[in-house]
Amino acid sequence: MTKKSQYTTILEDIRKKALLASRPLTFMELCGTHSQTVAQHGIKNILPKNIKLVAGPGCPVCVTDQSDIDNIIGLALEGIPIATYGDVLKVPGNSMSLEKARAGGTDVSAVYDVAEALEIKKRKPDLVFFGMGFETTTPMTAWAVRKGLTIYSSHKRFFPAMETLLKKKSLKIDGFINPGHVSAITGTKMYEKLKVPQVVAGFEAIDVLRAISMLLDQILNGKHEVQNEYARVVKKGGNPRAQKIIAEVFEVVDANWRGLGKIKSSGLAIRKKYQKQNAEYVFENLLKKIRRKTTSKPTACKCGEVLQGLRDPKNCPLFAKICNPQNPQGPCMVSVEGTCSIDYKYGRSKQRNQRCD
Ligand code: SF4
Repeated sequence: MTKKSQYTTILEDIRKKALLASRPLTFMELCGTHSQTVAQHGIKNILPKNIKLVAGPGCPVCVTDQSDIDNIIGLALEGIPIATYGDVLKVPGNSMSLEKARAGGTDVSAVYDVAEALEIKKRKPDLVFFGMGFETTTPMTAWAVRKGLTIYSSHKRFFPAMETLLKKKSLKIDGFINPGHVSAITGTKMYEKLKVPQVVAGFEAIDVLRAISMLLDQILNGKHEVQNEYARVVKKGGNPRAQKIIAEVFEVVDANWRGLGKIKSSGLAIRKKYQKQNAEYVFENLLKKIRRKTTSKPTACKCGEVLQGLRDPKNCPLFAKICNPQNPQGPCMVSVEGTCSIDYKYGRSKQRNQRCD
């Protein structure tokens, strides 16, 4: 079967099933890369009218709490050399971004990965790497901790956020498209706890469409299961070696998420065994001083609602007016995986299907 006829067949299949379901259905895609696929291929435009796709908190930069951003900017201003991923530099803090701090003369390096940060550490022994991300990036950070890199950890576990989203009364989710990259590390077993249809999906447009079709099958059959559309990469047990190194270096703690608030057991802090590589231990007093000095100021940014699928970016008063990729007012416009940035790039907000505002 040609690719074109595959698309035609699956779309016809989705249309028939959506007609049979005969009610509005909301599916949430949980990975920023899925959101990119959905926008890039105009998937919202070709779905039946009763199927709504909303983006979830799948962008690690976006969900990083404001206090972590302010702490790392504070460390930079106190003269500590900082390294982190390039898209973090533009995230606005309460007083400034890391990029502005760098323009003012602080030592901030944008790196592609932790290996690059380890190289910088050879020249700058005090270097702190601002580590963030879900289970996909955590194993590499754990490896770097073992190699001696000092980390400020904002790493998170994804599954507790899914549990939190399902409990929200303001959201009515009929099915999740589970994150492929995260699941490749964690496996799929934990998802079985959730009483909602779920499909782990790959990142091609055809993967996302298949996932939607599979979710519809579950709904029509009155089931809630965990299906794996991405079996070519994701195994039920995940990646045991990656899980082992995460467990060796990190311990599970509660963590603050932008928009979602404090989520129990959703954070990863560096274990005592590696405390000399834990920036929160090494710079404990300095961070206390930074926290005392930081006063949060009100912001019109609606990123917290966008991250939960509660607001479409176009319904943020700043979208494409004051806020754009050159002048981002919140992390959702900064990161390539941020919903506002994706919508800005692909004009997704002009599409028919809206989120549940
Ligand atoms: S458009 Fe900008 S200001 Fe509005 S929610 Fe998105 S990032 Fe925040």
